Amino acid sequence: MNLHKLILTNNACYKAGKTITPKGIMVHSTGANNPYLKRYIGPDDGLLGKNQYNNHWNQDKPDGRQVCVHGFIGKLAVGSIATYQTLPWNYRGWHAGGAANDTHIGFEICEDGLSDPAYFSAVYKEAVELCAYLCKQYGIKPESPTLICHSEGHKLGIASNHGDVMHWFPKHGKSMDTFRADVKKLLDAASPETPTTPKKYYRVQLGAFSVKANADAMLKKVKAAGFTDVFIKYSE
Ligand SMILES: [Zn+2]
Repeated sequence: MNLHKLILTNNACYKAGKTITPKGIMVHSTGANNPYLKRYIGPDDGLLGKNQYNNHWNQDKPDGRQVCVHGFIGKLAVGSIATYQTLPWNYRGWHAGGAANDTHIGFEICEDGLSDPAYFSAVYKEAVELCAYLCKQYGIKPESPTLICHSEGHKLGIASNHGDVMHWFPKHGKSMDTFRADVKKLLDAASPETPTTPKKYYRVQLGAFSVKANADAMLKKVKAAGFTDVFIKYSE
């Protein structure tokens, strides 16, 4: 994950200053063909590039709307993919249009034309990594209803009626089920509690002798044959 931070301190949502205890994550996508982060985040930090229309979300009511999210995933000026945190994770965001604002961290994936598999796989991977990071930090389970997209939130009655991200993910063979599974896979791989398989040894025995001299003779023979890691073990 390529995580940066630019808190949208001029946004009315930030200024409201309400906090939550994050219990879930809601995945959004922007619904507009513009993959560049500078569309939503400003001022230019030298990586984002300049928003020439100055219509980013670091203002009181972007596009006249009461809206703000905790992060965005999209393109930097040079075209590489990054995540920007835009609200403290424990601030109450204005992203769900419903009760999920009181429980869920919300972030947007910047949409392109929805048909480029390279862009999709890059932002999907970035989103999986961001969610694994947040799940770990807040003890959030990568399952429904704690890790959902906006359209799933609507079905659960905790978000407004939007189609994101299920109008996009299936075009590239993905869904929120694959997404949750991928986040879980990443968490399991990173978890220090993952039990490691105990080491097993397979021993080769070449003989058992009642007379020590015979055992010594066998040991000598085996060593002469080039095996160095051999020994005699005495047991009754
Ligand atoms: Zn949404």
